[in-house]
Amino acid sequence: MDNPAPGPVWRLPAVPGLSDLVSALQSAGYRVIGPQVRDGAIGLGEMHSADQLPFGWGVHLAPGGYRLRERPDMAAFGHSAGPQSWKQFLHPPRERLWSAHRSAAGDFTVEPADPEVRPLAFLGVRPCDLRAIQIQDEILGATRHPGSGYAARRAAVFLIVVNCTEPGETCFCVSMDAGPRAGPGYDLLLTELTDPAGHEFVLQSGSAAGNEILNCLRLEQASPAMVCGADDAVDAAAQRMGRVMDTADLPALLVETLDAARWDDVAARCLTCGNCTMACPTCFCTTVEDSTDLTGDHADRWQSWASCFELDFSYLHGGPVRSSGKSRYRQWLTHKLGTWHQQFGSSGCVGCGRCIVWCPVGIDITEEVAALRAEKDARAAGPGQQQSDQP
Ligand code: SF4
Ligand code: SF4
Repeated sequence: MDNPAPGPVWRLPAVPGLSDLVSALQSAGYRVIGPQVRDGAIGLGEMHSADQLPFGWGVHLAPGGYRLRERPDMAAFGHSAGPQSWKQFLHPPRERLWSAHRSAAGDFTVEPADPEVRPLAFLGVRPCDLRAIQIQDEILGATRHPGSGYAARRAAVFLIVVNCTEPGETCFCVSMDAGPRAGPGYDLLLTELTDPAGHEFVLQSGSAAGNEILNCLRLEQASPAMVCGADDAVDAAAQRMGRVMDTADLPALLVETLDAARWDDVAARCLTCGNCTMACPTCFCTTVEDSTDLTGDHADRWQSWASCFELDFSYLHGGPVRSSGKSRYRQWLTHKLGTWHQQFGSSGCVGCGRCIVWCPVGIDITEEVAALRAEKDARAAGPGQQQSDQP
């Protein structure tokens, strides 16, 4: 979905404005999903009022580490990516695909599952996560799978994106061209300002549905100074990325380093737990499982998230194709950053940093790419510069 040419820019006072926004969305029939503090983290859940937003909370992020921190201000969106992404609402972890019944007369019927579709408003989508949703749209959405549950759920989603002014220590959306300023595709776009002039938002609409919600709000035009302040805050965020990934010729680099010694290094640390794939907002792989009741007259087929780190993920007759941890980590990284381009026309990474934070041993995708590049450069420089002779 492309956003139209920029329209008027509005000022939304933070606390009453967000309350009005949530009420307007609810009145329009949306179930509002947004960030909130729970279980020691900022997760995503249904919001009954704007009071549930994590006002005054930020996060400290590190490889294998996540901690809430109190902010010096009352920002509602002063935190970077949390453990959950929006993928759980569009591409659920477990979903029934169909049910089969055998009647007493022996007739056999198969009924496709009717996906529950309720209009959802995602409040507080980061630009990197907007990009991640668009990547999953390309893979799971209406173009390729018009009748899918994903396509039906996605069509009913209203997106309120918040430009990022608070990148975390593990963020690298700038490297992946996925933030901190939102690209097209939102219904409403907010930029949060918490300067001494007050706590407020710059607000823009990006769709007809966005205009309808705007019409329900009490708004005044944003001043030029406020618009400049919002632009500056996002520009400043781009300079404060916690991580950088050099993406120059990255797919080619990965092809040229398939036998690098670095894969053994990372395999020695990787637990093949699959956490990175579960936390990643673009990973989409699934498996299917059939279950029957005790009578044998009723069966269901379930689809659930799967991970390329599972041993049986690559099982073909006789055994798994990728039996070593090394081959599974290499598959994940080379698909995400390399062959995804050939398959879907973009990178599979948006630089959200979740795989770094939620890896129990702190494996850092940016560090692995840098090490592969260094190894390739060392090889090119000559035998004396190589890190290892190992194939
Ligand atoms: S690979 Fe890591 S940084 Fe990239 S989108 Fe997935 S979780 Fe985020
Ligand atoms: S890279 Fe980390 S999170 Fe991913 S499978 Fe290995 S140990 Fe688990």
